[in-house]
Amino acid sequence: MSLRIALIAHDGKKADMVRLAQSFKTFLSTCTLCGTGTTGGRLRDEVGLPVERLLSGPLGGDLQIGARLAVGEIDVVIFLRDPMTPQPHEPDINALVRACDVHDVPCATNLASARLLLAQCAGT
Ligand code: PGA
Repeated sequence: MSLRIALIAHDGKKADMVRLAQSFKTFLSTCTLCGTGTTGGRLRDEVGLPVERLLSGPLGGDLQIGARLAVGEIDVVIFLRDPMTPQPHEPDINALVRACDVHDVPCATNLASARLLLAQCAGT
C-alpha cells in the first residue's frame, strides 16, 4: 500500500509547500495524498499532484486530518506552519500536532524537517 501523506500549509508557507512538492513530485506521485482545501488545490493546480482536498484549515480541515490520523489512516504529516502569523484556528492546529504525538505519526512543521522526512520516505 502506498504511503498516505497529509499536506497542510498556512498562507505564508504555501509557496514553500508548492516548491517542496515540486522537488519531491516523483515520490509524491506514488503516495496517497490529502490536504487542506487551499493547500490541496494549489498542489493540484500548480504541481499536478492528485490531492484529495478536505475542508480549508480554518473551517475544520486540520480536524479532519487529525480524525483520520487517529484511526490509522495517515502515515505522515507535512504541516508547514507560519509561526509569525496568528491563526484563527490555533486550537485545531494544536489538536492535530497533539494527535501526531499521541499516535506517533511523523509530523514535519517546517521546511527543513519536511525535506528530511520526505527524503527519508523516498529513500533518497
Ligand atoms: P488551507 O488550510 O490549505 O485551506 O489554507 C490550511 C490552514 O491555513 O490551516
